[in-house]
Amino acid sequence: MSDTTPLVFDGHNDILLQLHRDDRAGAVKSFLEGRSGALDLSRMKAGGFGGGFFALYVPSVGDMVLSIDDRIDAMCEPSFDLPLPPMLDQAEALVCCMEQTAILLDLERTGTLKICRTVSEIRTCMASGIIAAILHMEGAEAIDRDFASLEVLYTAGLRSIGPVWSRPTIYGEGVPFRYPSDGNIGSGLTEDGIRLVEHCNARGIMIDCAHLNEAGIRDVAKHSDAPIVATHSNVHAICASSRNLTDEQLGIIADSDGMVGLNFAVSFLREDGRKFADTPLDTLLKHLDHLIERIGEDRVGFGSDFDGALIPEEMGDVTGLVPLRKAMRNHGYDSALMEKLCNANWMRVLENTWK
Ligand SMILES: [Zn+2]
Repeated sequence: MSDTTPLVFDGHNDILLQLHRDDRAGAVKSFLEGRSGALDLSRMKAGGFGGGFFALYVPSVGDMVLSIDDRIDAMCEPSFDLPLPPMLDQAEALVCCMEQTAILLDLERTGTLKICRTVSEIRTCMASGIIAAILHMEGAEAIDRDFASLEVLYTAGLRSIGPVWSRPTIYGEGVPFRYPSDGNIGSGLTEDGIRLVEHCNARGIMIDCAHLNEAGIRDVAKHSDAPIVATHSNVHAICASSRNLTDEQLGIIADSDGMVGLNFAVSFLREDGRKFADTPLDTLLKHLDHLIERIGEDRVGFGSDFDGALIPEEMGDVTGLVPLRKAMRNHGYDSALMEKLCNANWMRVLENTWK
């Protein structure tokens, strides 16, 4: 087995947000020829990154209660509780999601990446060296109550929706960045949120519980007939961030035969919850061990948060998947387990979710 296999299929990245922020016209060039940040085509190949969930995410520019620098400073403190920006306007959010989707379509036209709508398409891409992308939405601000935008985005390839990022939406409430804290903050899904879950079930769109508050996750479990999934969340028993999953929540995920993608963000990995890059790979292994013990080796994968978070300096960017695989093997994970964690578990859950 080489340094770049098994290929990783990953539960979350924010490259579309970054490319959109930088310059849409230059997005293809920087993806193909190299950019700063965690992801581009040549480093994806070098890291053995086969594909993953590509998030549409609408920033709160102008509305931010704290600037990004202030947020980073605050998250280096021993405890913090960042205020949430207000709800977004749906029409404005939709424009931003259209522009980010257009970037993904631009990338697809290069022939190096494909927006996948079935698991067999993902497998074919990964076997032929084409990046397999799932169009995902992190925070359903752009989705109108009548689901017209959802239907159009579905046709463009949207196959996974997180009802909230953190800000409240008409569908539910997310958890703020708070440490230490659990996710028992705010109320559950709204009536529209329940309708969204039912509509996604009918369409075979995955519902992502990452960043939902506790009551919201319970409501998804109650109303959804699909496996319960958190695409990029970690273990609360190790890192007491509001955004991590308690053992009780892990139980809900296991009962539904869902899964959790391990988030590489240091703030959700470290026991002290602080935003410091000198976080050893060992910390990731602790979370993986706990997840495997609690929910079983068939229900754990990755959800890197590449291009959306500060990750351990030993990883640096997507090429850090190479030392991560090495650390996992040295830790005693055999080849069958490596295959499951790197990609096979995502394939199983998607097969059971998409219809
Ligand atoms: Zn996220």
